Amino acid sequence: MEFPSLKSWFGDVEHYPYIIAGPCSAESEEQVLAIAAFLKSTGRVNLFRAGIWKPRTRPGTFNGVGVRALKWLQLVKSEYDLRVTVEVASPKHIEACLKHGIDVLWIGARTVSNPFSVEEISEALKGVDIPVLIKNPLNPDIDLWQGAVERISSAGIKRIAAVHRGFSPFERTLYRNMPKWEIPIELRQRMANLPVICDPSHISGRADLVQGVSQKAMDLMMNGLMIEVHSNPREALSDSAQQLDFNQFSSLMNSLIVRQPTVNDKGFLNQLEELRNQVDSIDFQLIELVASRMNISERMGEYKFKNNVAVLQMERWLEILRTRTEHGTLRNIEPAFVERLMTLLHQESIRIQTAILDNLKVSDDHWSEEE
Ligand code: PEP
Ligand code: MN
Repeated sequence: MEFPSLKSWFGDVEHYPYIIAGPCSAESEEQVLAIAAFLKSTGRVNLFRAGIWKPRTRPGTFNGVGVRALKWLQLVKSEYDLRVTVEVASPKHIEACLKHGIDVLWIGARTVSNPFSVEEISEALKGVDIPVLIKNPLNPDIDLWQGAVERISSAGIKRIAAVHRGFSPFERTLYRNMPKWEIPIELRQRMANLPVICDPSHISGRADLVQGVSQKAMDLMMNGLMIEVHSNPREALSDSAQQLDFNQFSSLMNSLIVRQPTVNDKGFLNQLEELRNQVDSIDFQLIELVASRMNISERMGEYKFKNNVAVLQMERWLEILRTRTEHGTLRNIEPAFVERLMTLLHQESIRIQTAILDNLKVSDDHWSEEE
């Protein structure tokens, strides 16, 4: 599969990184036009984004203004000479967008998670020549993401880019969605030339984290950024915490440090660097997991104190060692290594629980003295 570069999509002048920006949702004509006027004035934006059908996790939240916003987007094109992109989730959405001259379609994370929907969209795109952005699915399933790219490509669509928006975490983490950078890097290795754009807004979930995630994406040689920008984020009807205001967007654009990629003579990114980037991302997740484990240790410390249970129980520790080394063997990890690793984790866990117990004892004595 060959994928044309972003710069060739509309024969634009070279523009790196490729910037897609706009509100999470189109809310009113005034809001859309005010944001478009500002973004145009920055001279940095390649594509204006706005959601008009919003797939929401919970019912009863704002689910978009629907087709009437397509007229506002036509105004963005005619008044500000910006190309526009809209999220589509069904053949009906595609038909409405094509009728209104939308330049680029994007398929959201929830839709990509469902191969039936992607298939329907792919059917509807047969014979249509329009660029399509494909977000990663909610879960970190690279095959599902690659499959969506393949399905859309098999409809005859050539201009395709993947959008990395992070993956739903099973626990609360610093980010709204875990970046798991090793996954977009692997997608890029599997599908040479596929442009990959990062969506730091949905990864971050918080405006103050967008800058760091954007810089990370640049350091990993992502081809562009898709950023949510709102004239008044606090009043936004969706994703209010993560949208940037105008000043934040301008300072982000001014602060980005863009590196030149190290490429080999065939034009591929340096393999070793790509592998190191994957390892970095996995180490980051290891630390997050260790932090979750230590949190649970604290809760166990409290429980043991309340129920008068000793911190260390030998049979439990032996069972931990046995099951972990067995599992390690299945994954080709030396038992002696797993044992060392588990011992380290266990020692730290015991240290934390003992500290909690000592603390609780002190406050317990304190209370009994007061009585
Ligand atoms: C969006 O871009 O506003 C959106 C709904 O994104 P995602 O599909 O990544 O959740
Ligand atoms: Mn959003």
